[in-house]
Amino acid sequence: MQHFPIFLAVAGRRIVVSGGGEAALAKLRLLMKTEAHLTVFAVDPSADIHRLAHDRKLTLIQRPLAPGDALCAVLFYAANEDDAEDARVAALARADGALVNIVDNLADSAFITPAIVDRDPVVVAIGTEGAAPVLARAIKTDLEERLPVQLGLLARLGKAFRHAADALPMGCKRREFWADYYFDQGPKALEQDGPQGVEAALDRLLAHHLHAPAKEGHVDLVGAGPGDPELLTLKARKALDRADVVIHDRLVSPEILELARREAVLIDAGKEGFGTSTAQDDINELIVDHARMGLHVVRLKAGDPTVFGRLDEEIEACEAAGVTWRIIPGITAASAAVAQIGQSLTRRDRNSSVRFLTGHDMKGFAEQDWRALARPGEVAAIYMGKKSARFIQGRLLMHGADPATRVTVIENASRPDSRVLATTLARLEPTLTEANLTGPALTFFGLAPRAAAALPQLKEAAL
Ligand code: SAH
Repeated sequence: MQHFPIFLAVAGRRIVVSGGGEAALAKLRLLMKTEAHLTVFAVDPSADIHRLAHDRKLTLIQRPLAPGDALCAVLFYAANEDDAEDARVAALARADGALVNIVDNLADSAFITPAIVDRDPVVVAIGTEGAAPVLARAIKTDLEERLPVQLGLLARLGKAFRHAADALPMGCKRREFWADYYFDQGPKALEQDGPQGVEAALDRLLAHHLHAPAKEGHVDLVGAGPGDPELLTLKARKALDRADVVIHDRLVSPEILELARREAVLIDAGKEGFGTSTAQDDINELIVDHARMGLHVVRLKAGDPTVFGRLDEEIEACEAAGVTWRIIPGITAASAAVAQIGQSLTRRDRNSSVRFLTGHDMKGFAEQDWRALARPGEVAAIYMGKKSARFIQGRLLMHGADPATRVTVIENASRPDSRVLATTLARLEPTLTEANLTGPALTFFGLAPRAAAALPQLKEAAL
């Protein structure tokens, strides 16, 4: 981010614009939405600007900007549509201590003006650092359609009621009151009875929330998918939107954590400090303790929580504590990885079953039915298989698997930094050593990327 977005206090302050043509007028249209005092310096202002001055929307001074004219101004716009004049006035305004923007000159500007969606006091500012004004406009149009025009009025009435709402205890009770107002009772009352109706609805709603019984906590055991935020289910997004606390794995991507409600407390339960077997007890305790406080806990687990996720222990902890829970499934790493290589997990005439294996369990490298797996045509998705690759390779070869069996390792499936390593059972270990994987990786035994599988010369090379 080269530009940091902020909202500047401009009520009662000076903003100075130099220029009297279209460029100046475009900025003035935005600036007139504020409560700032606007002063325009222009030798030959357009009729529109004359009219605005006549209507007392701004002060018009018909001469070129001179030293001291931008004193005490918070912002200054050089909008003369003349590079030399813009450079001259910008230097004067800088000397007067104002933040300077030169229209259409990003490099010499101290700030840029975003595209704005105005539902005052709710204001959305959209910036692309000058990279793509088209994109900014498209986002603005989209938001204009999505945010109801009455939102501003609801927010103004809500703001005036904030003090009264402080009677509710801080935290989830207060948040629930406001959510009820903005997303349910407020819009309804406005539609039925106008602004007065909204004020009455606020009083009623407050009385209702003040006397409502304490909320029960709840735990959602949510699949975060393989990393791409677009592979999150809608249900998972909704749960994240409502969460008071999000207890997440190390593997959950930062882009997904960004989607949690801003007020939600994020707890990383994948830290080193959590060790091995006691770790799960600590996590169970974290989940249950927060739910008992009446909070909505989202236990966010990579992929699908039902696949190698130690889900049952967490459910049992909830049940033992009498806390309600539900599972929101997610896309498991195997599904994302197989999609990436253009294959399916099962296929008529090839494999009518697929195994999900873990490379290691609590006791170390995990033993499997190697003999069955070693048969031709078998497909297995191996989770947590990096460290155990040599062990798995050895066991399969020992039980008669063909050394030329296709093996594909997919690191960081669905993420931008993903890598696909297509190899064979014989070459699995050296391939992994060479690639030096750092992200989570899923190994497919018995599958090659579709493109590689279709190339006969590659098939031969593997044999
Ligand atoms: N519940 C998860 C699995 C947890 S076990 C799921 O359904 O996907 C952790 C293992 O999952 C990792 O060691 C790795 O093998 C696999 N994994 C998770 N995310 C992955 C990703 N984006 N790409 C490849 N493998 C991944």
